[in-house]
Amino acid sequence: MILKMAEHILKCPTEHRYTMEKKCPSCGSDTLTPRPPKFSLNDKYSSLRREVKKKELIEKGLY
Ligand SMILES: [Zn+2]
Repeated sequence: MILKMAEHILKCPTEHRYTMEKKCPSCGSDTLTPRPPKFSLNDKYSSLRREVKKKELIEKGLY
């Protein structure tokens, strides 16, 4: 299952890179589970907000 596999993906909070190790092989930081599923809805909204922001910038000729 894809979801099951995703549970094993960890993220280095220092470098924002993904790894399967409990400690980042690059900098040795303790890795964290990246965004629990209950936050996925928030992510959806934040990407929506980014889209709106982008449209604003395009309208102002700044993008
Ligand atoms: Zn790291």
